[in-house]
Amino acid sequence: MLTPGATIGILGGGQLGRMLALAAARLGFNCHIYSPERDSCAFQVVRNHTCAPYEDPSALRRFAEAVDVITYEFENVPAKTAAFLERRKPVLPDPRVLETTQDRLIEKDFLRNLKIATAPYAPVHSALQLTEGIAKLGLPAVLKTRRLGYDGKGQAKIGKEGDALAAWRALQNAPCILEGFIAFEREVSVIAARTRDGKVECFDVTENEHGDHILRISKVPAKITPALAAQARRIAARIAKAFDYVGVLAVEMFVVRAGRRKFLMVNEIAPRVHNSGHWTIDGASVSQFEQHIRAIAGLPLAKPLRLGRVEMTNLIGEEINEAARWLTVPGAALHLYGKGAPRPGRKMGHVTRVWPGR
Ligand code: AMP
Repeated sequence: MLTPGATIGILGGGQLGRMLALAAARLGFNCHIYSPERDSCAFQVVRNHTCAPYEDPSALRRFAEAVDVITYEFENVPAKTAAFLERRKPVLPDPRVLETTQDRLIEKDFLRNLKIATAPYAPVHSALQLTEGIAKLGLPAVLKTRRLGYDGKGQAKIGKEGDALAAWRALQNAPCILEGFIAFEREVSVIAARTRDGKVECFDVTENEHGDHILRISKVPAKITPALAAQARRIAARIAKAFDYVGVLAVEMFVVRAGRRKFLMVNEIAPRVHNSGHWTIDGASVSQFEQHIRAIAGLPLAKPLRLGRVEMTNLIGEEINEAARWLTVPGAALHLYGKGAPRPGRKMGHVTRVWPGR
């Protein structure tokens, strides 16, 4: 168990690292951020940082020596970096989780082995497999690169009359996964935290609205029945257990209607704190960031209580220029990430509104 004054190393210097560091500070911990990007917004809120490539062994060695435990705020930590660090200090969650979640095909196979529903899928490593995949799944379908996709990047929808080969070419003929297009009713996510001794706490299920593949708004509670919400939490807990996970993870799901029945399909697992959990800072008795810090520090988890009906809105790109208007809105909490100049599609901050007791 870490005691106050200990130092937590965080790989990645974006807003997630920044909010993790702020939560860690509240518990008396120091954070040391490691990021190759000079203008990392997490650097601003910590005592120490390292700005170096993930492939720099001497910088990694010094980082490992300076911290007590290491975690990460993004899922594309290179496997070699994680292995190098693991030989020196505990890395939590176990980086082997990344081998599964960095690859959409391995991730889907993992879910299938757990008997958790996903969109139907097929691997695409050749033009022949693309034709076979379409014959099996039908159109429309979604072609996704196996690796390194986020916020809709590395994805192409193939419509009913679509040119599948052109879609694949647009993805540089990279190894892909073809998914059946799911006409979902809504998208939800579960943020779950798990301790080393296997205790799990989930936040209330969040409903997410995307625009241009980027999360725009999260609403809690999600408009689903208590039974479906309980099922969503059970799915997240099963995934966390299967990974022997330590820390916070997010599971994104589709709510799908089949006649009068509704069921869940898992779309994606994020082995980290997640944008759809930002509402927990102001809308719950404990935040996803604090739960993550508690879990990796070996502290007990809090039982999260939601403080009301909650809505979180991302401030994307130029929307940051209107941020000040939220300062005087009753029940609104404004978070700015200190990222400098806005760029289209860049997450600059968020606002959380809480309506107590509802
Ligand atoms: P992903 O990068 O897999 O999280 O996908 C980004 C977004 O694309 C999701 O949040 C959905 O809105 C949409 N999407 C992804 N996969 C599918 C699918 N198989 N069918 C329909 N929509 C999808």
